[in-house]
Amino acid sequence: MDLNYSQEENAFREQVRSWLQASLPRNEPMSPREGEDDKTWLENAKRWQRRLYEAGYVALSWPKEYGGQALDPVRQSIVNDELVQARAPQLVGLSGLGLLGPTLISWGTEEQKRRYLPKILTAEEIWCQGYSEPGAGSDLASLRTRAEIVGDEFVVNGQKIWTSGAQYSDMIFCLVRTDPDAPKHRGISYILMDMHSPGITIRPLVQMTGERGFNEVFFDNVRVPRKNLVGKLNEGWIVANSTLFHERNVLGAATASQQLFNRLLDLARTIKRNGHPMTHDPVIRQRLADLEIRVEAMRFHCYRQLTDQIHGRAPGIESMVNKLVGTELNHDLATAAMEVMGDYSMLARKQEAVLDHGFWPYEWMFSLGLVIGGGTSHIQKNIIAERGLKMPKSR
Ligand SMILES: Cc1cc2nc3c(=O)[nH]c(=O)nc-3n(C[C@H](O)[C@H](O)[C@H](O)COP(=O)(O)OP(=O)(O)OC[C@H]3O[C@@H](n4cnc5c(N)ncnc54)[C@H](O)[C@@H]3O)c2cc1C
Repeated sequence: MDLNYSQEENAFREQVRSWLQASLPRNEPMSPREGEDDKTWLENAKRWQRRLYEAGYVALSWPKEYGGQALDPVRQSIVNDELVQARAPQLVGLSGLGLLGPTLISWGTEEQKRRYLPKILTAEEIWCQGYSEPGAGSDLASLRTRAEIVGDEFVVNGQKIWTSGAQYSDMIFCLVRTDPDAPKHRGISYILMDMHSPGITIRPLVQMTGERGFNEVFFDNVRVPRKNLVGKLNEGWIVANSTLFHERNVLGAATASQQLFNRLLDLARTIKRNGHPMTHDPVIRQRLADLEIRVEAMRFHCYRQLTDQIHGRAPGIESMVNKLVGTELNHDLATAAMEVMGDYSMLARKQEAVLDHGFWPYEWMFSLGLVIGGGTSHIQKNIIAERGLKMPKSR
């Protein structure tokens, strides 16, 4: 691992930093947690992603013919670092950028890549993920949503659940059963569906944060062109796992933990106990030091993966660890913030005396969800044990 940046890379970092200083949106709602109505925050968030893309700072390593720049992954990691330092808002098209995009680059047809990838970059089309079903979460291969082939189309019937962002998404990448007689991991196909198709009903589910972030999605004879199949018919399981691999890296990204840690530090410096900032309290200092060590370890862990990518080495056990460590760390960061705030942590966002705009109680609840979403910590431990450490399979 070489932790030194070249002269060109340092110059690139400077360029990103000054662009962000001049262009970062200020005081505009960028997510459902900040925006009162869906339309305003969504438009702001799409505009921000488009500006960042037009400046050349989104998906830098994607191939040029689909809107990328074919740059090495170090450039993307520099941009990610600078976005964290600048406390930039998260991108609204993350599902497309982080999950579907890399999957299509590996598995999509030429037509699919040209049709979908550019609109993912510019946030013209927002994607959601249709994997989980009632009865098919950790045991995803038990899914029962059925797609029958009729002429040139799939006809889809069934139900998905916990579909994040379905209420404002334009498209969904979806796992469906195309051969009910095959063993459960076979007989699954991976298809792309237009969320505005007739026969799709979206019913919001209220999370403990009070938001309607995820949904039930029902399919009633929804017609999908056959050309929207990704990979081979009945061999969607392997494509699905490719998306899961990317998802777990997104959910475990070190950038999110660094951003949270910086905010926690600001909080502890602002709040006073016995006339002194909380950062002077020996117990809190110890806690912050412990968390910072974990955040830094995560950062260097990501550098190790970056080194593998640069040298073209296949991802190893490191990539399996990301999701487990990253999401649990984020929840611990939020828990520490709640303790720093003491009784103030009970106040809801709109109450007058609320601290840090009510960010932390929300983050505490939200981060608990991410320990579950994309595969629970228990499942991640099974994966690390079985595939990473080659231990005997759990029953
Ligand atoms: C915030 C959030 C967003 C989400 N967004 C999406 C989305 O956009 N699209 C989508 O498709 N899904 C989404 N999900 C669903 C998510 O992928 C599932 O919740 C997750 O895979 C767990 O499945 P389950 O809820 O059915 O729990 P279950 O599978 O029923 O698990 C229940 C408990 O049993 C444990 N368990 C199960 N099997 C094993 C085992 N073999 N070994 C050890 N322990 C086990 C689990 O760890 C868990 O604690 C989201 C979930 C959350 C919380």
